[in-house]
Amino acid sequence: MLADLLIRNATVLTCAAPASGARGEALARLEVLHGASVAMSDGRITAIETEDDAAVVSSGETIDAEGRLVTPGFVDAHSHLLHGGSRAHELEARVTGALPALATGIAHTAAGTSAASDEQLVERALRDLDVMLLHGTTTLEAKTGYGFTREEELRLLRLTAGLRHAVDVVPTYLGAHVLPPQYAGRRDAFVELVIDTLAEAREHAEHCDVACDPGSFTRAECERIAEAAAGLGFQLHVHADQTGDADGARFAAQAGALSADHLDYASDAGVRALADSATVAVLLPGVTLHMLEMTPGLRDGSLVPPPKPFMPLVVRRLIDAGACVAVSCDYNPGSCPSPSMQLMIQLGARLFRLSTAEAWHMATINAAAALGLAADRGSLEPGKRADIVIWRVDDPAAVLDRFGVNLAAAVVKEGRVVARPEKTLPIMTGGAHA
Ligand SMILES: [Zn+2]
Repeated sequence: MLADLLIRNATVLTCAAPASGARGEALARLEVLHGASVAMSDGRITAIETEDDAAVVSSGETIDAEGRLVTPGFVDAHSHLLHGGSRAHELEARVTGALPALATGIAHTAAGTSAASDEQLVERALRDLDVMLLHGTTTLEAKTGYGFTREEELRLLRLTAGLRHAVDVVPTYLGAHVLPPQYAGRRDAFVELVIDTLAEAREHAEHCDVACDPGSFTRAECERIAEAAAGLGFQLHVHADQTGDADGARFAAQAGALSADHLDYASDAGVRALADSATVAVLLPGVTLHMLEMTPGLRDGSLVPPPKPFMPLVVRRLIDAGACVAVSCDYNPGSCPSPSMQLMIQLGARLFRLSTAEAWHMATINAAAALGLAADRGSLEPGKRADIVIWRVDDPAAVLDRFGVNLAAAVVKEGRVVARPEKTLPIMTGGAHA
Protein backbone atom coordinates (compact mmCIF):
# COMPACT_ATOMS: atom_id res chain seq x y z
CA MET A 1 0.00 0.00 0.00
CA LEU A 2 1.27 3.49 -0.86
CA ALA A 3 0.97 6.43 1.50
CA ASP A 4 1.34 10.19 0.93
CA LEU A 5 2.51 10.52 4.51
CA LEU A 6 3.69 7.80 6.85
CA ILE A 7 4.31 8.27 10.55
CA ARG A 8 6.30 5.32 11.85
CA ASN A 9 7.77 4.17 15.16
CA ALA A 10 4.97 5.87 17.10
CA THR A 11 3.06 5.29 20.32
CA VAL A 12 -0.44 5.55 18.86
CA LEU A 13 -3.45 6.49 20.99
CA THR A 14 -6.40 5.71 18.72
CA CYS A 15 -9.37 7.05 20.79
CA ALA A 16 -11.38 4.66 18.58
CA ALA A 17 -15.10 4.54 19.38
CA PRO A 18 -18.43 4.40 17.57
CA ALA A 19 -19.78 7.61 16.01
CA SER A 20 -22.09 7.93 19.02
CA GLY A 21 -18.95 8.45 21.14
CA ALA A 22 -17.18 6.66 23.96
CA ARG A 23 -19.25 6.05 27.07
CA GLY A 24 -19.26 3.60 29.93
CA GLU A 25 -16.46 1.02 29.69
CA ALA A 26 -15.24 2.35 26.35
CA LEU A 27 -14.65 5.76 27.94
CA ALA A 28 -12.46 4.25 30.64
CA ARG A 29 -10.27 2.19 28.31
CA LEU A 30 -7.27 3.61 26.40
CA GLU A 31 -6.14 1.84 23.24
CA VAL A 32 -2.40 2.44 22.88
CA LEU A 33 -0.35 0.75 20.12
CA HIS A 34 3.41 0.74 20.63
CA GLY A 35 5.87 0.77 17.71
CA ALA A 36 3.01 1.52 15.34
CA SER A 37 2.75 3.30 12.02
CA VAL A 38 -0.03 5.48 10.62
CA ALA A 39 -0.38 5.71 6.84
CA MET A 40 -2.35 8.45 5.10
CA SER A 41 -3.48 9.01 1.55
CA ASP A 42 -5.73 11.68 0.02
CA GLY A 43 -6.33 13.23 3.43
CA ARG A 44 -7.58 10.02 5.05
CA ILE A 45 -6.00 7.41 7.27
CA THR A 46 -5.45 4.28 5.19
CA ALA A 47 -3.78 1.95 7.68
CA ILE A 48 -2.60 1.71 11.27
CA GLU A 49 -0.22 -1.17 11.83
CA THR A 50 2.34 -2.31 14.32
CA GLU A 51 5.85 -2.06 12.88
CA ASP A 52 6.20 -5.84 12.48
CA ASP A 53 3.40 -6.18 9.98
CA ALA A 54 3.79 -2.79 8.30
CA ALA A 55 3.59 -3.29 4.57
CA VAL A 56 3.11 0.39 3.80
CA VAL A 57 5.54 2.23 1.56
CA SER A 58 5.60 5.99 1.66
CA SER A 59 5.61 7.75 -1.67
CA GLY A 60 5.87 11.11 0.09
CA GLU A 61 7.13 12.09 3.51
CA THR A 62 8.00 9.65 6.27
CA ILE A 63 8.20 10.90 9.83
CA ASP A 64 10.06 8.84 12.38
CA ALA A 65 8.17 9.61 15.57
CA GLU A 66 11.00 8.11 17.65
CA GLY A 67 8.50 6.43 19.94
CA ARG A 68 6.60 9.60 20.69
CA LEU A 69 2.87 9.81 21.23
CA VAL A 70 0.59 10.21 18.20
CA THR A 71 -3.09 11.05 18.75
CA PRO A 72 -6.09 12.39 16.88
CA GLY A 73 -6.16 16.18 16.55
CA PHE A 74 -8.33 17.85 19.17
CA VAL A 75 -11.91 18.73 18.30
CA ASP A 76 -13.03 21.86 20.17
CA ALA A 77 -16.83 21.81 20.16
CA HIS A 78 -17.55 25.16 21.82
CA SER A 79 -16.04 28.57 21.12
CA HIS A 80 -17.01 32.20 20.68
CA LEU A 81 -14.20 32.78 18.19
CA LEU A 82 -15.14 36.11 16.60
CA HIS A 83 -15.04 38.99 19.06
CA GLY A 84 -13.54 42.40 19.62
CA GLY A 85 -12.23 44.18 22.70
CA SER A 86 -10.48 42.85 25.78
CA ARG A 87 -11.71 41.91 29.21
CA ALA A 88 -8.28 41.26 30.73
CA HIS A 89 -9.08 43.76 33.49
CA GLU A 90 -11.85 41.49 34.79
CA LEU A 91 -9.43 38.88 36.15
CA GLU A 92 -7.84 41.06 38.83
CA ALA A 93 -11.25 42.40 39.82
CA ARG A 94 -12.47 38.85 40.27
CA VAL A 95 -9.32 37.75 42.11
CA THR A 96 -9.54 40.64 44.58
CA GLY A 97 -13.28 40.22 45.04
CA ALA A 98 -14.15 43.58 43.46
CA LEU A 99 -16.20 41.70 40.87
CA PRO A 100 -18.77 39.07 41.90
CA ALA A 101 -17.61 35.55 41.04
CA LEU A 102 -20.17 34.90 38.32
CA ALA A 103 -20.39 38.39 36.81
CA THR A 104 -19.71 38.54 33.07
CA GLY A 105 -19.25 41.45 30.71
CA ILE A 106 -20.89 40.11 27.56
CA ALA A 107 -22.25 43.61 26.84
CA HIS A 108 -18.68 44.95 26.92
CA THR A 109 -17.61 42.34 24.35
CA ALA A 110 -20.67 43.05 22.20
CA ALA A 111 -19.68 46.75 22.12
CA GLY A 112 -16.06 45.91 21.28
CA THR A 113 -17.19 43.52 18.58
CA SER A 114 -19.52 45.93 16.86
CA ALA A 115 -16.77 48.59 16.92
CA ALA A 116 -14.39 46.25 15.06
CA SER A 117 -14.28 46.14 11.27
CA ASP A 118 -14.76 42.94 9.30
CA GLU A 119 -11.03 42.89 8.58
CA GLN A 120 -10.11 43.33 12.24
CA LEU A 121 -12.41 40.53 13.37
CA VAL A 122 -11.18 38.13 10.69
CA GLU A 123 -7.51 38.97 11.29
CA ARG A 124 -7.89 38.32 15.03
CA ALA A 125 -9.79 35.07 14.42
CA LEU A 126 -7.11 33.79 12.03
CA ARG A 127 -4.38 34.54 14.58
CA ASP A 128 -6.38 32.69 17.24
CA LEU A 129 -6.80 29.76 14.87
CA ASP A 130 -3.01 29.72 14.33
CA VAL A 131 -2.52 29.39 18.09
CA MET A 132 -5.14 26.64 18.36
CA LEU A 133 -3.53 24.68 15.53
CA LEU A 134 -0.08 24.97 17.13
CA HIS A 135 -1.60 23.48 20.29
CA GLY A 136 -3.21 20.56 18.47
CA THR A 137 -6.75 21.64 17.61
CA THR A 138 -7.77 20.62 14.08
CA THR A 139 -11.55 21.25 14.18
CA LEU A 140 -13.28 24.13 15.94
CA GLU A 141 -16.92 25.05 16.43
CA ALA A 142 -17.44 28.84 16.45
CA LYS A 143 -20.58 30.62 17.65
CA THR A 144 -21.99 34.07 17.09
CA GLY A 145 -23.75 35.66 20.07
CA TYR A 146 -21.93 38.97 20.53
CA GLY A 147 -24.15 40.83 18.09
CA PHE A 148 -27.05 42.60 19.79
CA THR A 149 -28.85 43.28 16.50
CA ARG A 150 -29.97 41.07 13.63
CA GLU A 151 -27.51 42.74 11.25
CA GLU A 152 -24.56 42.32 13.62
CA GLU A 153 -25.34 38.64 14.29
CA LEU A 154 -25.58 37.94 10.57
CA ARG A 155 -22.29 39.81 10.00
CA LEU A 156 -20.54 37.66 12.61
CA LEU A 157 -22.02 34.48 11.15
CA ARG A 158 -21.06 35.42 7.58
CA LEU A 159 -17.48 36.26 8.63
CA THR A 160 -17.20 33.01 10.63
CA ALA A 161 -18.47 30.91 7.72
CA GLY A 162 -16.00 32.65 5.41
CA LEU A 163 -12.88 31.87 7.49
CA ARG A 164 -10.31 29.85 5.56
CA HIS A 165 -7.72 28.13 7.73
CA ALA A 166 -6.08 24.75 8.25
CA VAL A 167 -8.35 24.37 11.28
CA ASP A 168 -11.84 23.41 10.08
CA VAL A 169 -14.34 25.94 11.46
CA VAL A 170 -17.95 24.87 12.07
CA PRO A 171 -20.12 28.01 12.29
CA THR A 172 -23.06 28.16 14.72
CA TYR A 173 -25.79 30.79 14.94
CA LEU A 174 -26.28 31.71 18.61
CA GLY A 175 -28.82 34.50 18.32
CA ALA A 176 -30.32 33.59 21.71
CA HIS A 177 -27.19 34.08 23.85
CA VAL A 178 -28.33 36.78 26.29
CA LEU A 179 -31.18 39.29 26.07
CA PRO A 180 -29.76 42.49 24.51
CA PRO A 181 -30.27 45.49 26.84
CA GLN A 182 -32.49 47.28 24.32
CA TYR A 183 -34.99 44.39 24.60
CA ALA A 184 -35.37 44.60 28.39
CA GLY A 185 -39.07 44.07 29.13
CA ARG A 186 -39.68 42.91 25.53
CA ARG A 187 -38.49 39.32 25.67
CA ASP A 188 -41.09 37.99 23.24
CA ALA A 189 -40.09 40.56 20.64
CA PHE A 190 -36.48 39.42 20.87
CA VAL A 191 -37.37 35.72 20.60
CA GLU A 192 -39.40 36.59 17.50
CA LEU A 193 -36.39 38.47 16.08
CA VAL A 194 -34.16 35.42 16.58
CA ILE A 195 -36.75 33.20 14.90
CA ASP A 196 -37.08 35.68 12.02
CA THR A 197 -33.29 35.65 11.55
CA LEU A 198 -33.03 31.84 11.33
CA ALA A 199 -33.77 31.52 7.62
CA GLU A 200 -31.01 33.94 6.64
CA ALA A 201 -28.64 32.44 9.22
CA ARG A 202 -29.24 29.02 7.68
CA GLU A 203 -27.48 30.24 4.53
CA HIS A 204 -24.23 30.39 6.51
CA ALA A 205 -24.62 27.71 9.19
CA GLU A 206 -26.03 24.25 9.84
CA HIS A 207 -25.82 24.62 13.61
CA CYS A 208 -27.99 26.69 15.94
CA ASP A 209 -27.41 27.24 19.67
CA VAL A 210 -29.79 28.55 22.32
CA ALA A 211 -28.89 29.49 25.91
CA CYS A 212 -31.33 27.79 28.30
CA ASP A 213 -30.26 29.34 31.56
CA PRO A 214 -31.75 31.52 34.33
CA GLY A 215 -29.48 34.33 33.05
CA SER A 216 -30.58 33.93 29.43
CA PHE A 217 -33.73 32.25 28.12
CA THR A 218 -36.43 30.00 29.56
CA ARG A 219 -37.09 26.48 28.36
CA ALA A 220 -40.33 27.67 26.71
CA GLU A 221 -38.49 30.43 24.83
CA CYS A 222 -35.75 28.03 23.75
CA GLU A 223 -38.36 25.51 22.59
CA ARG A 224 -39.91 28.08 20.26
CA ILE A 225 -36.53 28.90 18.70
CA ALA A 226 -35.46 25.23 18.54
CA GLU A 227 -38.66 24.19 16.82
CA ALA A 228 -38.27 26.87 14.15
CA ALA A 229 -34.58 25.98 13.74
CA ALA A 230 -35.33 22.28 13.35
CA GLY A 231 -37.87 23.14 10.66
CA LEU A 232 -35.06 24.80 8.69
CA GLY A 233 -32.75 21.81 9.07
CA PHE A 234 -30.50 23.27 11.77
CA GLN A 235 -28.73 20.94 14.19
CA LEU A 236 -29.25 22.14 17.74
CA HIS A 237 -26.89 22.93 20.61
CA VAL A 238 -27.88 24.21 24.05
CA HIS A 239 -25.97 26.35 26.55
CA ALA A 240 -27.59 24.54 29.49
CA ASP A 241 -27.93 25.30 33.19
CA GLN A 242 -24.66 27.24 33.64
CA THR A 243 -25.83 29.67 36.33
CA GLY A 244 -28.81 27.68 37.62
CA ASP A 245 -31.19 24.86 36.73
CA ALA A 246 -33.37 26.01 33.82
CA ASP A 247 -34.23 22.44 32.76
CA GLY A 248 -31.72 22.97 29.95
CA ALA A 249 -30.19 19.49 30.13
CA ARG A 250 -33.54 17.76 29.81
CA PHE A 251 -34.63 20.17 27.11
CA ALA A 252 -31.46 19.45 25.08
CA ALA A 253 -31.97 15.69 25.32
CA GLN A 254 -35.69 15.85 24.54
CA ALA A 255 -35.14 18.24 21.62
CA GLY A 256 -32.56 15.88 20.11
CA ALA A 257 -29.76 18.46 20.39
CA LEU A 258 -26.26 17.42 19.34
CA SER A 259 -24.89 18.85 22.58
CA ALA A 260 -25.77 20.32 25.95
CA ASP A 261 -22.93 22.53 27.16
CA HIS A 262 -21.85 23.77 30.65
CA LEU A 263 -24.40 21.76 32.75
CA ASP A 264 -23.10 23.07 36.09
CA TYR A 265 -26.59 22.99 37.64
CA ALA A 266 -28.07 20.13 35.59
CA SER A 267 -30.79 18.36 37.59
CA ASP A 268 -30.76 14.61 38.30
CA ALA A 269 -33.56 14.30 35.73
CA GLY A 270 -31.41 16.25 33.26
CA VAL A 271 -28.43 13.97 33.82
CA ARG A 272 -30.61 10.89 33.30
CA ALA A 273 -32.16 12.36 30.16
CA LEU A 274 -28.73 13.06 28.69
CA ALA A 275 -27.51 9.54 29.54
CA ASP A 276 -30.54 8.04 27.78
CA SER A 277 -30.02 10.21 24.68
CA ALA A 278 -27.49 10.78 21.90
CA THR A 279 -26.94 14.36 23.13
CA VAL A 280 -23.32 14.96 24.15
CA ALA A 281 -22.64 16.67 27.50
CA VAL A 282 -19.88 19.23 26.84
CA LEU A 283 -17.81 20.24 29.88
CA LEU A 284 -15.91 23.54 29.91
CA PRO A 285 -13.32 23.39 32.70
CA GLY A 286 -11.53 26.53 31.51
CA VAL A 287 -14.58 28.52 32.61
CA THR A 288 -14.59 26.83 35.99
CA LEU A 289 -10.93 27.80 36.48
CA HIS A 290 -10.99 31.32 35.06
CA MET A 291 -14.20 32.33 36.84
CA LEU A 292 -12.69 31.03 40.10
CA GLU A 293 -15.70 28.78 40.57
CA MET A 294 -13.83 26.15 42.57
CA THR A 295 -11.43 28.54 44.29
CA PRO A 296 -12.21 29.92 47.76
CA GLY A 297 -12.23 33.69 48.04
CA LEU A 298 -10.82 35.93 50.78
CA ARG A 299 -12.80 38.54 52.69
CA ASP A 300 -11.49 40.30 55.80
CA GLY A 301 -8.94 37.57 56.35
CA SER A 302 -11.50 34.76 56.12
CA LEU A 303 -12.08 32.19 53.43
CA VAL A 304 -15.24 32.55 51.36
CA PRO A 305 -16.43 29.21 49.97
CA PRO A 306 -16.19 28.81 46.18
CA PRO A 307 -19.45 29.09 44.22
CA LYS A 308 -19.24 25.68 42.53
CA PRO A 309 -17.35 23.16 44.66
CA PHE A 310 -19.76 20.47 43.44
CA MET A 311 -18.55 20.37 39.83
CA PRO A 312 -16.64 17.03 40.13
CA LEU A 313 -19.85 15.43 41.40
CA VAL A 314 -21.91 16.70 38.43
CA VAL A 315 -19.26 15.39 36.06
CA ARG A 316 -19.08 11.99 37.75
CA ARG A 317 -22.85 11.64 37.72
CA LEU A 318 -22.88 12.26 33.96
CA ILE A 319 -20.13 9.69 33.38
CA ASP A 320 -21.59 7.08 35.73
CA ALA A 321 -25.06 7.46 34.21
CA GLY A 322 -23.53 6.60 30.83
CA ALA A 323 -23.75 9.97 29.09
CA CYS A 324 -21.44 10.76 26.19
CA VAL A 325 -19.26 13.47 27.78
CA ALA A 326 -16.89 15.83 25.94
CA VAL A 327 -14.46 18.58 26.97
CA SER A 328 -14.01 21.86 25.11
CA CYS A 329 -12.53 25.34 25.65
CA ASP A 330 -15.45 27.79 25.38
CA TYR A 331 -12.79 30.16 24.09
CA ASN A 332 -14.10 33.71 24.64
CA PRO A 333 -12.66 36.96 26.02
CA GLY A 334 -14.62 36.86 29.29
CA SER A 335 -15.02 33.46 30.91
CA CYS A 336 -12.26 31.47 29.17
CA PRO A 337 -9.53 33.38 27.32
CA SER A 338 -7.50 30.19 26.71
CA PRO A 339 -7.87 28.47 23.32
CA SER A 340 -5.72 25.46 24.34
CA MET A 341 -7.37 22.06 24.39
CA GLN A 342 -4.19 20.76 26.06
CA LEU A 343 -4.99 22.98 29.02
CA MET A 344 -8.63 21.83 29.01
CA ILE A 345 -7.76 18.14 29.46
CA GLN A 346 -5.17 19.14 32.06
CA LEU A 347 -7.84 21.12 33.92
CA GLY A 348 -10.39 18.34 33.41
CA ALA A 349 -8.09 16.01 35.30
CA ARG A 350 -7.32 18.46 38.12
CA LEU A 351 -10.70 20.17 38.59
CA PHE A 352 -13.17 17.48 37.50
CA ARG A 353 -11.01 14.44 38.40
CA LEU A 354 -11.13 12.91 34.94
CA SER A 355 -8.96 9.87 34.29
CA THR A 356 -6.43 9.93 31.46
CA ALA A 357 -8.67 7.75 29.28
CA GLU A 358 -11.74 9.89 30.00
CA ALA A 359 -9.98 13.17 29.22
CA TRP A 360 -8.53 11.97 25.90
CA HIS A 361 -11.81 10.52 24.61
CA MET A 362 -13.67 13.65 25.70
CA ALA A 363 -11.36 15.98 23.76
CA THR A 364 -11.31 13.91 20.56
CA ILE A 365 -14.00 11.39 19.54
CA ASN A 366 -16.66 12.62 21.97
CA ALA A 367 -16.11 16.27 21.04
CA ALA A 368 -16.45 15.22 17.38
CA ALA A 369 -19.74 13.53 18.33
CA ALA A 370 -20.88 16.83 19.85
CA LEU A 371 -20.61 18.31 16.33
CA GLY A 372 -22.11 15.27 14.58
CA LEU A 373 -18.70 14.59 13.01
CA ALA A 374 -17.51 11.47 14.84
CA ALA A 375 -18.01 9.18 11.83
CA ASP A 376 -15.53 11.39 9.98
CA ARG A 377 -12.91 12.44 12.56
CA GLY A 378 -11.95 12.42 16.23
CA SER A 379 -10.13 9.05 16.27
CA LEU A 380 -7.28 7.34 14.48
CA GLU A 381 -8.99 4.64 12.43
CA PRO A 382 -8.71 3.70 8.74
CA GLY A 383 -11.11 5.82 6.69
CA LYS A 384 -11.13 8.72 9.14
CA ARG A 385 -9.81 12.17 8.29
CA ALA A 386 -6.04 12.25 8.84
CA ASP A 387 -6.07 14.97 11.55
CA ILE A 388 -3.19 14.04 13.84
CA VAL A 389 -0.90 15.43 16.54
CA ILE A 390 2.62 14.16 17.13
CA TRP A 391 3.61 14.99 20.69
CA ARG A 392 6.91 15.82 22.39
CA VAL A 393 6.22 13.11 24.96
CA ASP A 394 5.67 9.37 24.59
CA ASP A 395 2.78 8.76 26.97
CA PRO A 396 -0.87 9.96 26.99
CA ALA A 397 -0.57 10.61 30.72
CA ALA A 398 2.36 12.98 30.16
CA VAL A 399 0.18 15.40 28.14
CA LEU A 400 -2.16 15.72 31.12
CA ASP A 401 0.74 15.98 33.54
CA ARG A 402 2.98 18.69 32.07
CA PHE A 403 0.73 21.73 32.09
CA GLY A 404 1.75 25.23 31.10
CA VAL A 405 3.86 24.54 28.00
CA ASN A 406 2.95 23.50 24.47
CA LEU A 407 3.64 19.77 24.20
CA ALA A 408 2.68 19.41 20.52
CA ALA A 409 5.61 18.67 18.19
CA ALA A 410 3.79 18.60 14.85
CA VAL A 411 0.20 18.86 13.68
CA VAL A 412 -1.10 17.04 10.62
CA LYS A 413 -4.32 18.19 8.94
CA GLU A 414 -5.86 15.93 6.29
CA GLY A 415 -2.58 14.14 5.75
CA ARG A 416 -0.35 17.23 5.52
CA VAL A 417 1.99 18.60 8.17
CA VAL A 418 0.56 22.10 8.79
CA ALA A 419 2.33 23.13 12.02
CA ARG A 420 5.67 22.24 13.56
CA PRO A 421 5.90 23.88 16.99
CA GLU A 422 8.93 21.67 17.77
CA LYS A 423 11.07 23.85 15.51
CA THR A 424 11.12 26.52 18.16
CA LEU A 425 10.80 24.36 21.25
CA PRO A 426 13.24 21.82 22.64
CA ILE A 427 12.18 18.25 21.98
CA MET A 428 11.35 16.42 25.16
CA THR A 429 12.21 12.78 25.44
CA GLY A 430 10.90 10.21 27.81
CA GLY A 431 7.49 11.53 28.75
CA ALA A 432 6.29 9.96 31.96
CA HIS A 433 9.47 7.87 32.16
CA ALA A 434 11.84 10.84 32.19
ZN1 LIG B 1 -20.49 29.53 25.30
